[in-house]
Amino acid sequence: MVNVPELFGSNVFNDDVMRDKLPKPIYKALKKTIHDGETLDDSVANAVAHAMKEWAIEKGCTHYTHWFQPLTGVTAEKHDSFITPDGDGKVIMTFSGKELIKGEPDASSFPSGGIRATFEARGYTAWDPTSPAFAKDGTLYIPTAFLSYTGEVLDKKTPLLRSMERISKEAVRILHLLGKTDVNRVVTTVGPEQEYFLIDKEMYNKRPDLIFTGRTLFGAKAPKGQELDDHYFGSIKTRVSQFMAELDKELWSYGIYAKTEHNEVAPSQHEVAPIFTTSNVAVDNNELLMEILKKTAEKFDLVCLLHEKPFAGVNGSGKHNNWSISTNTGENLLKPGKNPSENVQFLIFLAAIVKAVDDYQDLLRFSVASAGNDHRLGANEAPPAILSVFLGDDLGAVVDSIEIGEEHESEGKKSMDLGVEVLPTVRKDTTDRNRTSPFAFTGNRFEFRMVGSAANIASANIIINTTVAEELKEFADRLETVKDVKSAAKRLVVRTFKKHDRIIFNGDNYSDEWVKEAEERGLYNLKSVPDAVRHYLDEKNIELFTKNDVFTKEEMTARYEVELENYAKLINIEALTMLDMAKKDIIPAVTAYIKTLTDTALAKQSLSPDIPTSLERDLVTDLSQQLVCFSDKIKELENNLIKANEYADDIQAYADYYRNTIFADMQALRAIGDNMETQTSSEFWPYPSYGEMLFGV
Ligand code: ADP
Ligand code: MG
Repeated sequence: MVNVPELFGSNVFNDDVMRDKLPKPIYKALKKTIHDGETLDDSVANAVAHAMKEWAIEKGCTHYTHWFQPLTGVTAEKHDSFITPDGDGKVIMTFSGKELIKGEPDASSFPSGGIRATFEARGYTAWDPTSPAFAKDGTLYIPTAFLSYTGEVLDKKTPLLRSMERISKEAVRILHLLGKTDVNRVVTTVGPEQEYFLIDKEMYNKRPDLIFTGRTLFGAKAPKGQELDDHYFGSIKTRVSQFMAELDKELWSYGIYAKTEHNEVAPSQHEVAPIFTTSNVAVDNNELLMEILKKTAEKFDLVCLLHEKPFAGVNGSGKHNNWSISTNTGENLLKPGKNPSENVQFLIFLAAIVKAVDDYQDLLRFSVASAGNDHRLGANEAPPAILSVFLGDDLGAVVDSIEIGEEHESEGKKSMDLGVEVLPTVRKDTTDRNRTSPFAFTGNRFEFRMVGSAANIASANIIINTTVAEELKEFADRLETVKDVKSAAKRLVVRTFKKHDRIIFNGDNYSDEWVKEAEERGLYNLKSVPDAVRHYLDEKNIELFTKNDVFTKEEMTARYEVELENYAKLINIEALTMLDMAKKDIIPAVTAYIKTLTDTALAKQSLSPDIPTSLERDLVTDLSQQLVCFSDKIKELENNLIKANEYADDIQAYADYYRNTIFADMQALRAIGDNMETQTSSEFWPYPSYGEMLFGV
């Protein structure tokens, strides 16, 4: 039996450990830094570093690393040893405050968009004391931010921390205006629900597409209800449950409280949902979780696929980003209140969020843009690429009555005090009913469901935090100028809901009618990465980020370029992988099968001309014709790949070309390949089929 309380957080240099290992004044100073953002002085940093090192050595660590989140989409680390020569041919284990606080990885190997060209190449990492260090694989991991020497942000953590500061500041202003003067800090909380696939390692190893790109580039749909050998099925199932038990243990040791679950949607797809925590720690934990998922799978000869769409035609994987805001006094600001004054407060925050989603649909869409997620958004299984907010029946009715209330008032009648006095209890079951909404209110939080399974959730949370902060600021600026804050707040709520009515949608987001209606409502429908990125540098967005000190214009331009560059690179890799598979495996396999069919027909003929050979003839003819088309598509794709260089000067045009031409060519090539798979003997087909991969686990 696992001793969970003992195991839980055992690899984390958490608050308990700090209290235990640090002298009281040091502990207090560190807490002040963590909670109030005060700078650490050298003596405190040295003492913390010493305690961390001692603890890490107890955990078997010999190295430490500054762990950071560059724009590559994966975490990066540079390992350094604690070992220092003592001058007498021996070594001692040292770790100074300086080494804790600042590191110097080589910035030139990480993407920076245009920044590297115009600024200094060197970068540094800076300790983030708000996210706990942890011990893993003999190394002390120190969560850090990553910046260039001239201060440009090169990572995802720095803007996230800035956005958290911004929303805290503006939310506190609102709360103070509403009389809650005991609140001095507000934190955003996140609980990401992670979906993933598990497949057998041996099958994975036979698929170059999975190995190089994380998704299948060819593969005919599995016939429904495919049954495989029971024994085999049974043995793998055991592996999966062993995997899950091990995964839980691993996650618990890093202080991530999660319960793994089978997901019913697609065969071999699963979900793991940790309990929410502050955004910053939730991001770090999710990065760690994705790594642990992969490593743990390996232990059981399984492979964990985090790609948003590993299998065409099969449900894809997302990451529901549950998001809320709460005060340092422990109040969740998205919990509808019980008395009228709390209702106003709740509605102000709700209105700010609704307005933020409407004003910055393009940025929210940008924040989840990836080549993988393009396959998922709008594919009848995930929210569409269109942003809208779901409020549920109870809250929807309140908003309706608020709007009508104002109409009554404007007709000169006494309103029902805008409906805000009578906010009903929002029942959980009514909020959870609509699973199709991309941005759903779920009782005490919002669930942003467009995030892709492989994404770093920092991107989405930077946007949510910053845009909501901006709307709260606008509200606070206005409310600060009035005498009667409460009634002004109510009027503000009414005006906001009326003005942003178009973003609220409680119906079926997967339906074709919604796509039409959304267009009539003037909502964005940005279907691919190049489209989603196109609006990033719109004037209003530059103003948002620069005003809020989250990004400079240069940093935004850099991000825009990196996004498009990564997209084009990825599609290029996919195209090259497809060509390789098509030429080296698929054509030879089909040709070999054709030869067998031909030989069979000839053999039959030599036995007796009366034996029918029409089956072989028809198949040979059909497959031969398809091979010709297949080879034409190969040539077309190859030629078009060469032409891509003509667009290389304009990154947007380059990415557009990859989307409109290369990606389309790939689809056409795949269609023929998949069709040939359905007609070719599985003995000859070079890759494990969808049926084998999906039902094999
Ligand atoms: P359900 O099963 O109804 O979706 P859960 O309680 O399982 O609800 O929550 C789903 C996710 O939402 C979990 O990761 C949970 O921690 C997270 N969550 C719950 N409350 C909050 C909150 N206030 N802020 C952020 N995330 C939250
Ligand atoms: Mg959920």
